[in-house]
Amino acid sequence: NTTHFGYQQVPLQEKASRVAGVFRSVAPKYDLMNDLLSMGIHRAWKRFTIELAGVRPGHTVLDLAGGTGDLAIKFSKIVGDTGQVVLADINEAMLAVGRDRLFDAGCSHNTRVAQVNAEALPFEDNTFNTITIAFGLRNVTDKEKALRSMLRVLKPGGRLLVLEFSKPVHAPLSKLYDFYSFNVLPRLGKAVANDADSYRYLAESIRMHPDQATLKSMMEDAGFARCDYFNMTGGIVALHRGFKV
Ligand code: SAM
Repeated sequence: NTTHFGYQQVPLQEKASRVAGVFRSVAPKYDLMNDLLSMGIHRAWKRFTIELAGVRPGHTVLDLAGGTGDLAIKFSKIVGDTGQVVLADINEAMLAVGRDRLFDAGCSHNTRVAQVNAEALPFEDNTFNTITIAFGLRNVTDKEKALRSMLRVLKPGGRLLVLEFSKPVHAPLSKLYDFYSFNVLPRLGKAVANDADSYRYLAESIRMHPDQATLKSMMEDAGFARCDYFNMTGGIVALHRGFKV
């Protein structure tokens, strides 16, 4: 009944409080570190996610584990005055940064901010046209429960997009990526954010996350239909899509 966590084995119930500590710690420098560590590529991964999100004016969108609000800001522009976007995250420090960014981007009129746990979403059944969870699912303790919760709050015909680190498809890339994750990443985390531990957690949580095929099966088991996925940057990241019928 244990899971890997930053090179240690810790009981599952401790995972949530460790994750809370990590994101409380990284929140102020999260956006800077994202750009730095991914060399800006996370913007392209998110652009593709928005392309596949099928969001239209008037839609209701949930950006779950939305953190500092990158996706929520873009969706706010698309849904317009008749739509609504909910930026939801479990962590108050990440949400505080997200709320400020939404305000600064002029999104206050059609966005709401909610502190929620993905495993038990406090929304009515059949509420959202689209749910996105970007780089969030791997941090959730009970992923199956979270997926079922997302399905419940999606409208019939609505879709879920899971953007997440995945498994590189070519061995040489995989080796290079491992070196980057376990050597470069914690050092950069230490140098820029004075926080090697959080960035060690990042590397370890990526390694523990289910691969492309496993996550697709998990979505199907949770009840999503027409599930598929798209590898990006050689499978370092994958975008999974599933529909509620
Ligand atoms: N989606 C944003 C992005 O792509 O930049 C933020 C991603 S950040 C790596 C992961 C986020 O997941 C954190 O803000 C964290 O607080 C949130 N998170 C972790 N566990 C969660 C849970 N059980 N429910 C909701 N959010 C959670």
